[in-house]
Amino acid sequence: MSLSCNSIKMTDRNGDLSFINQKAKQWRDVPNEEIVYLPKNETIFLSGGLTLLQDKLVEAALNSMNIHFIALPNPDFKSFQTGKAFGNRGQCNPTYFTVGNLVKYLQNLRDEEGFSTREIVSKYVYITAGGCGPCRFGMYITEYKKALRDAGFEGFRITAFEHDKGIFQGDEIEEQILDFTPSFFVTLIKSVIIGDIINILGYKMRPYEIENGSTDEALEACKNLVTEAFLKHKSLLKALWQCRTLLSAVKLNRLQPKAKVMVMGEFWAAMTEGDGNYNLHRFLEAEGAECIPQPIVNRLMLSIWEAEQDLNKAEILASDTAKSIDFSSVKKRLLIRAGKTAVKTHFSLYAKAIGLHDYEIPHMEKLAEIGKAYYTLDCDGGEGHLEVAHLIESVKEKLSHLTISVKPFGCMPSSAVSDGIQSLVTSRYPEANFLSIETSGEGAANFYSRVQMALFKAKQSAKEEFETLDKPEHTPEKVHNYLYQPKNEQIGTAAKLIASLPA
Ligand code: SF4
Repeated sequence: MSLSCNSIKMTDRNGDLSFINQKAKQWRDVPNEEIVYLPKNETIFLSGGLTLLQDKLVEAALNSMNIHFIALPNPDFKSFQTGKAFGNRGQCNPTYFTVGNLVKYLQNLRDEEGFSTREIVSKYVYITAGGCGPCRFGMYITEYKKALRDAGFEGFRITAFEHDKGIFQGDEIEEQILDFTPSFFVTLIKSVIIGDIINILGYKMRPYEIENGSTDEALEACKNLVTEAFLKHKSLLKALWQCRTLLSAVKLNRLQPKAKVMVMGEFWAAMTEGDGNYNLHRFLEAEGAECIPQPIVNRLMLSIWEAEQDLNKAEILASDTAKSIDFSSVKKRLLIRAGKTAVKTHFSLYAKAIGLHDYEIPHMEKLAEIGKAYYTLDCDGGEGHLEVAHLIESVKEKLSHLTISVKPFGCMPSSAVSDGIQSLVTSRYPEANFLSIETSGEGAANFYSRVQMALFKAKQSAKEEFETLDKPEHTPEKVHNYLYQPKNEQIGTAAKLIASLPA
């Protein structure tokens, strides 16, 4: 053995091995000094990391329930660097962005706004979704705590709800700083669903606007209407109906053949609208494409589907040994069904009110059927089988000219799917135009260049699709109205509109 190996000592104990004979103690993550936290009514809750619109609507929804809640600013490159500086090594990209975003916000309160660390720690609480899982999602809370401690905010509180338990979080949750009651989740989900619907409409309209920025202006006005409805406890349906006037005022030219690009992949990386995916959606629009975003309701429906699957499996295992009917599982099944119906009903009511007619919530059983030949349904890390199913569905049902799967650097489930299984899918469906692309936080030039290459092919397909159609002599004005959303075999918006008209 070399001299250098021989002299290695445990760094934290400097060679002291006396702990070997000590009685083991349970490790607890508690601050070194006792902290006096402010009572519930003086506490400020923080969260964020959804789309820009959804963060604001969630803020309004929770404040309408007398929860003092602030949505954090959109995570940016500085958040990522802060996350890397204070986080563990080898985390996935969304962890760095979201953890770093919280630390950055607190540092700003301390360094720019003059709050003392003690004040921040006693007054603020961060809300996040927690859960167990085969990916790093199960370690988020530990990561938050580690980074906060190392950044000087030891004892900062994080409160979490289990993402897979839906609106009924169970009795095992002790006295919480925030009550995760069914009405909390119903209000939260309403704001997320409305955000999804307005976002989908925005992505359908913006690429065709005649006046730059007019769609975003209308969307901002819609956001204000919905925010006011939440805060003043007015009808959300009425607010959405009023949004129709604002959206109809945006002048569009929808007969431009543009490539339709489905953006999917890991939930956060595909959904975020900022540096977390190099502003992918806006980049695609600037390059002349129309995006199909992945709404958060997809992830919600996947969680409900997974809960139902777990229940089915538990019932099969129990059926051999059970001597009586397990009423708790009957109750759980009813609650899952009620949750599923409530999400679908709210989505379709709100979508109708604002005028989104051609969008259907993904059918999870159908997607499971499509994906199961390629990816086991029992593996629910990341998006599970959904990435595979979305790609196959988009090819078979002609949903997009290009499908981009955004996979964050360090993401285990998404890398396994995109690098492994999707290559089998694309060999069986050679007509698929598929790009799996990694977001590392650094390396935008490489990212954009690969997207541009795949987009070139997609643009050609959109153009050819449009040019092969017979054009009517007269095109009615209604084709430029966002409310006109025909359904047919064509992929591109312009081609769909032309094909819907009598020759
Ligand atoms: S799915 Fe991937 S990116 Fe998302 S939390 Fe899990 S490991 Fe991280």
